[in-house]
Amino acid sequence: MYEYDYLIVGSGLYGAVFAHEAKKAGKSVLVIDKRPNIAGNVYTEEVEGINVHKYGAHIFHTNNKKVWDYVTKFAEFNRFTNSPVANYKGELYSLPFNMYTFNKMWGVVTPEEAAAKIEEQRREITGEPKNLEEQAISLVGRDIYEKLIKGYTEKQWGRDCKELPAFIIKRLPVRLTFDNNYFNALYQGIPVGGYTGMVANMLEGIEVRLNTDYLENKAELDALADKVVYTGPVDAYFGFSLGTLEYRSVRFENELLDKPNFQGNAAVNYTDRETPWTRIIEHKWFEFGKDRNGNDLPKTVISREYSSEWKPGDEPYYPVNDEKNGALYAQYKKLAEGEKNVIFGGRLGEYKYYDMDAVIAAALDMAEKELG
Ligand code: FAD
Ligand code: UDP
Repeated sequence: MYEYDYLIVGSGLYGAVFAHEAKKAGKSVLVIDKRPNIAGNVYTEEVEGINVHKYGAHIFHTNNKKVWDYVTKFAEFNRFTNSPVANYKGELYSLPFNMYTFNKMWGVVTPEEAAAKIEEQRREITGEPKNLEEQAISLVGRDIYEKLIKGYTEKQWGRDCKELPAFIIKRLPVRLTFDNNYFNALYQGIPVGGYTGMVANMLEGIEVRLNTDYLENKAELDALADKVVYTGPVDAYFGFSLGTLEYRSVRFENELLDKPNFQGNAAVNYTDRETPWTRIIEHKWFEFGKDRNGNDLPKTVISREYSSEWKPGDEPYYPVNDEKNGALYAQYKKLAEGEKNVIFGGRLGEYKYYDMDAVIAAALDMAEKELG
């Protein structure tokens, strides 16, 4: 007889949702995390009344009503809509690509004029776009590609746009309307008071052990539970026996400034190649510059994000879903299927570029399958 039905490795969204569902189904659950805090990459920490997104800015958005109904049980969401600004050598453009962007870039005023300009510039691409560069030019033309996409993408991924898959850029909307909403999503917002509280509510009544690395204490921890749900990197689980999967990592440089307003927006992307950071986040604007009582905050916290290739010891953030890594992951997946008492889930466990809503949907599906 084991002490717990499930040992859940990782208290990020996948682990927290699965843990919640398992407890609800009457199972005994132990959650562990190697970090000193719960919530994985969505962790937020309060600094001077501001909820700082410690592992990168997170904006919740979804078209999945089931997921929206689920998360809103654990937190109240505000009406935040992501509208980043692009800064190209001091020129400011609206994102995603819409009539405000086209007007600033080309001086066009009507949707017909914008469409004609894009059409003229995309002619250089004939046939199906083979890589991110061709895909971008075929979506928005060369001018926007050169000023708003090329530099940012090469900094973000550390690879030439010709070597990146086309699908990465297809995430961004292109609109012939005056609409700066970055996402095409029915539901969007930020949990009031930050994400950590939302995840804490999911984990209510569940035993959590922090600062506990599964792989360093595997035998001892495995002896505690009938089954394991593992949300860490799949290649690390197998001791990198088939080689290392590539990830992109991000370094955050945080600064507390003694002024109320640094950049007037939550996110400003630096799209030229020369600026070393990809973007600057000003966290207070996720909650409209107010504290929990609705008072204006006198100070501000900003984070510069520097993208880098992952190396051992760094946090793995983005799986690099290109062909080479896809093929290696397929081999790890086979190994994972052989581990009968382990469920591999989440962004790192499945090596998948999941957004929050997709990770929650995946955890709910797995819980349904597993717990009945
Ligand atoms: P994680 O949150 O990574 O949780 C995994 C947990 O496992 C971690 O806490 C880790 O410490 C723990 N762990 C790993 N290995 C071990 C081990 N050996 N022992 C013990 N514990 C271990 N999504 C959106 O929808 N909107 C956004 O705006 C958005 N912005 C993002 C910005 C950045 C910079 C990044 C990196 C991601 C962003 N995402 C966004 C994606 C979002 O972060 C993920 O979808 C989600 O957090 C994945 O949850 P998870 O549980 O799979 O993984
Ligand atoms: N992108 C870009 N310029 C921008 C913002 C995004 O070229 O100002 C590209 C970049 O290649 C990025 C992709 O669009 O990887 C998807 O952007 P998104 O914001 O969805 O990336 P995330 O950081 O959420 O993964």
